[in-house]
Amino acid sequence: MNDTLTIAVSKGRIFKDVLPLLARAGIELRDDPETSRKLILDTNQEHVKIVLIRTTDVPTYVQYGAADLGVAGKDVLLEHGGAGLYEPLDMEIARCRLMVAGRPGASAAGNRLRIATKYVESARRYYAAQGKQVEIIKLYGSMELAPLVGLADLIVDLVDTGNTLKANGLVPMDHIADISSRLIVNKASMKMKHAQVQHFIEQMTAAVVAARG
Ligand code: AMP
Repeated sequence: MNDTLTIAVSKGRIFKDVLPLLARAGIELRDDPETSRKLILDTNQEHVKIVLIRTTDVPTYVQYGAADLGVAGKDVLLEHGGAGLYEPLDMEIARCRLMVAGRPGASAAGNRLRIATKYVESARRYYAAQGKQVEIIKLYGSMELAPLVGLADLIVDLVDTGNTLKANGLVPMDHIADISSRLIVNKASMKMKHAQVQHFIEQMTAAVVAARG
């Protein structure tokens, strides 16, 4: 049996926060992700490898078992739906909120609101739960622009400090969900590599607790 644990992580915000947690668990990268162009990174533990992929692809790699484990934002998991995955641990990193935002007073506009967002599933569920009929417009980035140029009345986006909204004359309105990164596990790996996976989850849990200080 293949006894390597492959862990999918995305570059950027999540990666920077995951590294110290891995280090607390005694896992250190052999390759420098800043300079290396490799997508499969070796670690000091022969049986642990890190694959670097786009954040929205992390649940897909783990779902299909191309990676045994992964670290993904709850925002991404809500869109993916979670098929084929366990989500055993809140890593308590990359925290932010999924919110409705717009120009001041915008939610009172018109009868059928137009909502621009990358988070189509979350937005759809949120407005359905409210019994509100809205038109959802899928965007891939720069959501803040949409209300400024009349593409949408409101946006659904991640908010951390609120500075991006403020810089564009927008205000946070409704809170949809608290977001943070989660450890996810392929369901088959959980069975087939149980001892290894369980050990890794325990190490990560201890690292998360220790990081609380
Ligand atoms: P801020 O200006 O601090 O409110 O940050 C908002 C911008 O950063 C938005 O464009 C968000 O999409 C992005 N952002 C904030 N927090 C996160 C996160 N935890 N993960 C991914 N993107 C984020």
